[in-house]
Amino acid sequence: TSYGFREVNEGEKQTLVNDVFHKVAKRYDIMNDVMSAGLHRLWKDAMVAALNPRKDADYKVLDVAGGTGDIAFRIIEASNRKAHATVLDINGSMLGVGEERARKKGLSENLTFVEANAESLPFETNTFDAYTIAFGIRNVPHIDVALSEAYRVLKRGGRLLVLEFSEVELPLLDRFYDAWSFNAIPQFGKMITGEAEPYQYLVESIRKFPNQEDFATMIRQAGFARVGFTNYTGGIAALHSGWKL
Ligand code: SAM
Repeated sequence: TSYGFREVNEGEKQTLVNDVFHKVAKRYDIMNDVMSAGLHRLWKDAMVAALNPRKDADYKVLDVAGGTGDIAFRIIEASNRKAHATVLDINGSMLGVGEERARKKGLSENLTFVEANAESLPFETNTFDAYTIAFGIRNVPHIDVALSEAYRVLKRGGRLLVLEFSEVELPLLDRFYDAWSFNAIPQFGKMITGEAEPYQYLVESIRKFPNQEDFATMIRQAGFARVGFTNYTGGIAALHSGWKL
């Protein structure tokens, strides 16, 4: 099958995404370093600094599409190991790697792992102080539904933070980035996992994701207030923020 430059419907999209992450789960963390040239670490640290988690045991964060736990681990460390994080992902293979990493880091007590869909969260309304999602929302077929669910499960005064690839705003970086993502990323994918096509699909999903302004509008439409964004590395990634007031 070729995923390249073919329109996929929404049901198919989730299946393709699940396929990719089942295949890469064990090598996901090293792939991230290779494909972003280590930059994902800086962006994730910046996201957690922006969140500035409270340092008490009542502070509850939901990290959606949390995969192997990168964001949740950082949040717990930043809270002096006080906060509690729920790592939710649709993919059991990714969560399995995350649970193993959590054990090794001695963070298991602060964490809960939940296998579920971002479009239908298995939590009560007004449960969390913060909702984070990093490099996950572009994989979700119905982004508007995921954002409404985020709004629902947050407490009043709760914060939404979304880290995602975005529109590059520097002309030269733009061209370099195109070459990198359309050629290098599928090639690395092939080297590490034996297949290039799933990565091609992921690169295309970055192109199709709304730009900074349009995504901010979608967040407002889900009910969030004081919505804004910050670009990282010339817009390769952007952090969007909103509040449930
Ligand atoms: N947040 C982690 C990070 O930044 O390293 C993982 C990001 S990884 C690129 C994307 C994750 O989104 C995968 O683990 C995938 O299984 C998950 N995902 C895709 N569709 C999802 C959905 N509908 N609901 C929840 N998680 C989903």
